[in-house]
Amino acid sequence: MPEAALVASAAPIGVLALQGDVAEHLAALQRIGVAALAVKTEAQLASVCGLILPGGESTTLIRLLHRFALAAPLVARIRAGLPVWGTCMGMIVLAHEVAELEQETLDVLDICVRRNAFGRQMASAEVALDIPVLGPEPFPAIFIRAPWVESLGAGVEVLASHGGHGVLVRQGSILASAFHPELTHDDRLHHYFLGMITPFALD
Ligand code: GLN
Repeated sequence: MPEAALVASAAPIGVLALQGDVAEHLAALQRIGVAALAVKTEAQLASVCGLILPGGESTTLIRLLHRFALAAPLVARIRAGLPVWGTCMGMIVLAHEVAELEQETLDVLDICVRRNAFGRQMASAEVALDIPVLGPEPFPAIFIRAPWVESLGAGVEVLASHGGHGVLVRQGSILASAFHPELTHDDRLHHYFLGMITPFALD
């Protein structure tokens, strides 16, 4: 497993720090003992071996990515194989498109997402989610105005579903969750993301 290789690597894992629950992801990475970096500039982006896009507000984040001149370099690094993980807002921003909305995305993950998909009754909820790749113990998945995966391309694997829709998906080096593992103290998904990072991700 690449974890040993990662420990040997000096490159930190980044958390995109333009908007959203950045501090919670940084704290989770610190809890599991890896170097973490809040990423706000192109130079910082170039220095990380993996990147988390946190929860927040997807239309705001897209605007900020352009204002900070990070949209194009980020897409280029992701296309070159940088492991990325989007949580909630991050899932929306990585997606190919947003159902029924003319919303710009980075279009690197072959899914169509529906924003705020679970409706008012699930504006915020914790669900014991079955995630087979994490083992038999259910995961405490916190959904906050969460999207779901409306449709997906053949290269996308659904790792967990809720209410009949994908809420955790992976396409190669890209992971996306509709929920917020950084808001719990269950770090298994952060560990899983570590496992996706190899020295090959370093340019
Ligand atoms: N509903 C938000 C959006 O559409 C995402 C919510 C979240 O990240 N918790 O951007």
